[in-house]
Amino acid sequence: MEHRCNCGSVHDTEIGISYNLFEKIDKDRMECLNEHEEGSGAKVFKTWEERLDRSEFVQSDVDDELLFNIPFTGDVKLKGLIVVADESYSPKTVKLYKNRPHMLFDHLDNSPEQEFELIADAYGVHEYPVRTVKFSSVQHLSLYFSGMGNTEQIKIYYIGLKGEWTPAHKHGVTICTYEARPLISNHPTDFNEVGRIIK
Ligand SMILES: [Zn+2]
Repeated sequence: MEHRCNCGSVHDTEIGISYNLFEKIDKDRMECLNEHEEGSGAKVFKTWEERLDRSEFVQSDVDDELLFNIPFTGDVKLKGLIVVADESYSPKTVKLYKNRPHMLFDHLDNSPEQEFELIADAYGVHEYPVRTVKFSSVQHLSLYFSGMGNTEQIKIYYIGLKGEWTPAHKHGVTICTYEARPLISNHPTDFNEVGRIIK
């Protein structure tokens, strides 16, 4: 099937099958700042088939901003983003930040890994092309949505994430390497002794 989008293009609607990263979100640790109803932010990460279900959504509380902190259950290579919102309450921009857990509004800066201007996509077919080179080894993704200041609230029905997922076992290796280095440099004598033993 094909669908004409607000961006002017016609999109294939078979893309939805690859939007399954919501299964790899650690939902118990997920945070949505400024959500009007507690816990509603987590509900917009659902199957692509449910993207048009208007009974579940997240709405901003005091302002036209929402900040999602999304921990994954492994390593993710992010490849695409879809956002479903109605024109009148659609956020205008989204900034993507990689591996900065527990971000607060105070932490937002002008150096997100990527930023998109959003079009109102009520049907959930417009894909934002995430720069995969910048979004490999993602254990945590923050999404900051904002309006233009001329709407009171923003409202999102669905956020779709596309990409690859691998289990988190690599972290153990990283931590070991990190710990081994300072030990060697702090104890050059020990290192020499170890070197002699090995010879
Ligand atoms: Zn489009």
